[in-house]
Amino acid sequence: MVHALLDKIINENSSFVEEHSKEYFLEHATGQKPSITLISCSDSRVQPHVLLDDPINEIFCVENIGNQMTSTQGSVDYGILHLKTPVLLILGHVDCGAVKAFMKGYQGEGESITKELDTLKPALSEFDDAGSFEEQILQNVQRNLDYQVKLAVERYHDLLEKGELTIIGAIYDFADSLGFGYGRIVLFNINGVTDPNEITALPVIQSLDKPIAISRI
Ligand SMILES: [Zn+2]
Repeated sequence: MVHALLDKIINENSSFVEEHSKEYFLEHATGQKPSITLISCSDSRVQPHVLLDDPINEIFCVENIGNQMTSTQGSVDYGILHLKTPVLLILGHVDCGAVKAFMKGYQGEGESITKELDTLKPALSEFDDAGSFEEQILQNVQRNLDYQVKLAVERYHDLLEKGELTIIGAIYDFADSLGFGYGRIVLFNINGVTDPNEITALPVIQSLDKPIAISRI
């Protein structure tokens, strides 16, 4: 297993090296200048290249279970306050294991995992039992996303006021649970605005070349 994986890494990294020129690397060899700070779930089904063809030097990627603000606050602050990316994208996803673990109970987990699931409590502790388990997962993915955006809006309020930061909450839908197609990024929240009509009316959305999928569960 490890042998096969290492072979795969060697081969695919060699392909990567061959496909990119020296100039490509020299552009970012001595410093990074990303445009997006991304908080996404560590889930292996969620990767930066679903957002951009080439996320290198574009996406400052912070990953943890449940795409949370507080689990790795220093890393998020580094992207926003030090690298000064103009966008903070918080990316939830369908079928999130952290959300499911919270709903099912996680008493058997060790201290470190428990600590990172406990921080979902303010977002999810009062979830209702309406709908199927799958529907409840989706509702809670949205609740968690809104909660994380709320924390970010509070923390970076000054930057929002000055127009130096836009906070985007979106869900990566690899199961077509939201009906926009498999693999679609669906917008749910901008700077705390969650009403799809209000989001649609925002100048940043009005000026897009192509329409973006916007939803609310
Ligand atoms: Zn997840």
